[in-house]
Amino acid sequence: MSLQFIHMIKQFSIPRGTSDILPSTVLSWESIESKAKDILKIYGYSEIRTPIYEDINLFKRSMGQTSDVVNKQLLEVLNNPSWVAMTKKEADEYQSQGLLKNYDPQKEMGLLSESGYALRPEGTAGVVRSYIENRLDAKETLSKLFYMGPMFRGERPQKGRLRQFHQIGVEAIGVDSASPYLDAEVIALGVRLLQEFGLSGFKLKINSLGTKEDKENFSIILRHILKDKLSDFCDDCRSRYDRNVFRILDCKNPACKQKIDALEFDDSHLSAESQAYFRHVRESVASLSIACEYDPKLVRGLDYYTHTVFEFVGGGLGSQDALGAGGRYNGLVSDLGGPAADAVGFALGVERVLLSVGEQTHPEKKLDAFMVALGETAYRRAFVINDFVRKSNVSCDMAHRPGGSMKSQMRLADKRGAKYVLILGEEEEKNHSVIVKNMSTGDQEIIGWDEVVEYLRNKLK
Ligand code: AMP
Repeated sequence: MSLQFIHMIKQFSIPRGTSDILPSTVLSWESIESKAKDILKIYGYSEIRTPIYEDINLFKRSMGQTSDVVNKQLLEVLNNPSWVAMTKKEADEYQSQGLLKNYDPQKEMGLLSESGYALRPEGTAGVVRSYIENRLDAKETLSKLFYMGPMFRGERPQKGRLRQFHQIGVEAIGVDSASPYLDAEVIALGVRLLQEFGLSGFKLKINSLGTKEDKENFSIILRHILKDKLSDFCDDCRSRYDRNVFRILDCKNPACKQKIDALEFDDSHLSAESQAYFRHVRESVASLSIACEYDPKLVRGLDYYTHTVFEFVGGGLGSQDALGAGGRYNGLVSDLGGPAADAVGFALGVERVLLSVGEQTHPEKKLDAFMVALGETAYRRAFVINDFVRKSNVSCDMAHRPGGSMKSQMRLADKRGAKYVLILGEEEEKNHSVIVKNMSTGDQEIIGWDEVVEYLRNKLK
């Protein structure tokens, strides 16, 4: 065995389906996030931050046991006993919901939750949990909330499909707040955000699932239409037939897709009220000069959607072409034990937006000043002046140890794009001064230590 092999140390790699956002790309992320925050505030939305993991049952109950996300993609947090020990209140609650077996109230502390936690696969469930828990309904008639952050799904990674990805999402939740105008406003906000990020040429698809009863009607109609054709569909679709027939319409398998494309639907499964609501949503969207395409096959795989559902589809993204999606979910808040609040929202996928806008070049961030110190004594002084300059909010840096030559330090200053270089040698140390060199003109001036901050501030105005 070679010596080289013995000394080989395992190098760790990034987990599959995740990505490092390096400093060179972070500027693109910052730009998306800050543009989003500006627009969201203009539309009256406030930020909410919820944990990245929640009780696994929250996801199961909100998204539905039959959804792919819950069925195949939930990333469970290891059931560490000290983490999932329940409080008495939680244990009582679980007991009352029939979720606990062998419940012994004498031993409630340290009793393990039989549910455990999962990393959030999307943002809505956590926001709704927080809305209910913090009684936001008592504080405002309509809570307009937005979030941004990582989501986790155990997917098969491919271009545009990750296991850790990021969403920017909004939720407008309020008791008795259902209004076609609010649906249209939320859709318009999604369009505005995508435009602000630099996207054009994306399509807005829209459909209505109607009420819970309308959905039930639709699933009966769908099962009826598909019954004799089922053998032509993939295994996944065949199992979706009983569990969640809507998901068949979403199948990405080319053979299934072709068969679905050949089917024809309209909105006849919707009640007259649901049809009128949907018409009103589309008219309101049109009144804002936004084009949308009615797609009766747009369903959304999660149980909680009712009435309006929509998707933003981008060009040039290959098979993962959804930039964002959302819809109305009127029953979810009350289903999770909250008030009778209606809600509508969407989430945009940040990685997909970035893929779609392409590599962005950002002007390099230039340093205002760079300290050049000649010799150890001067370095010690420069170290303090550097700190002083920074405290006055002028960006400044220097070599991280003494001993560098004038030439090497000037090279460093140049590399960092410093506008001014402050040179401190033996002579300047004696005179309590620095030589300030303007890097674009080459002009130099001798400035006292006391005046250097004021001097830089004036020059940098
Ligand atoms: P969904 O919650 O599935 O409706 O997703 C909303 C948006 O998040 C999608 O339109 C995508 O832009 C993005 N998204 C969802 N899943 C992933 C994923 N696995 N990887 C990257 N982006 C995703």
